[in-house]
Formats: sequence, structure tokens, C-alpha cells
Amino acid sequence: MVKVYSKALDQSIEINRILGQLEGNTAGPTIIFTAGIHGNEPSGVFALVKVLDDIKSKSIDVRGKVYAIAGNVSALKQGVRYNREDLNRMWNDERVAWLLKEDKIIKNEEDYEQYQLYTIISKILEVDNGSFYFVDLHTTSSPTKPFITVNDTLLNRKFTEQYPVPLLLGIEEYLGGYLIKLH
Ligand SMILES: [Zn+2]
Repeated sequence: MVKVYSKALDQSIEINRILGQLEGNTAGPTIIFTAGIHGNEPSGVFALVKVLDDIKSKSIDVRGKVYAIAGNVSALKQGVRYNREDLNRMWNDERVAWLLKEDKIIKNEEDYEQYQLYTIISKILEVDNGSFYFVDLHTTSSPTKPFITVNDTLLNRKFTEQYPVPLLLGIEEYLGGYLIKLH
């Protein structure tokens, strides 16, 4: 287990890569949350642990499956954004193909983190039936209201309009290689 500290909460928790998972009594979609892809953004990790604990302790039934996965565990442990490479700029087809081919000679921390994440998510996609939804939690560098950003598809709009927060479109036009884009 790895200890992660939240400056905002002045609190530490111990986590594993899989922060938690739930399976409802009724079949339904699978939602995969990731948090802490940037190690200096532990808020999503704390939020997922709390919400999953609440759902369990209040015996709230969910429809389908919920997974919560920590992103850059070694960076979260140190409270740094990343060690050598930004883990949220490494998700393109060429990179993943290289990673799978070269998995025996993982060179740095982020190679390892990406390989672990890719393996876990691939396994979920293999064993579960879907539909699959992906939510990657981040923290902004300056104060702001919570918002959602998505690749602009009709399905994504339909999904995100259920959340009572603003939807920002177009950010993906300025970024490359981030986790959600691969899916
Ligand atoms: Zn981030």
C-alpha cells in the first residue's frame, strides 16, 4: 500500500492501485473512474475512496459495475505531478504498442505506471460486458468551479448532461496523449 497525503484535507490515506470496486445486484454498464494520473492531484483519489465507502456503508445498490483506479501511484506517494514523464500525455496508439512490446525493459516509473493501468483496464474490458464509461478526475491549478470536459460526441453529451456541472468542449483540441482519448 502507498500513503497519499491531501494538503486540502490535511489527511493521509493508504491506497492500492485499485481504490475500490462495486458490483450491483442488477446488470448494467461498467463505469471506470481514474484519479491521480497527476500525482499532485490527490483530491480525486480521496473523493473516490469516500464515495465508494459511503455507497458500501449505506448499502446503496448500484446498477452495473464501478471501478476506481489510482493513476500515477508512485507520483501520488511523493506528491509530485510525475517522475519523468506526464502520464496524461502518453496515451497514443504508438506508445501503447511500444509499451506492450517492450514490457520486459520498462525504463522509468511512468512506463511502469502506464503498463499497470493499461493491463488493468484491458482486463476489465475483456471480462465485463459493457457498455463502458470512463471518468478521469483531475484538479485545476487555480480555483474554479467543478466542470466536465469530454470529446464531443452525442453519446458523451448525453452521459455528461446528467451531471449538474458545466460542460467544457474543445480542450482536447489543445492536448494530446491523455488517458480518456485512447478510449
Ligand atoms: Zn491533472
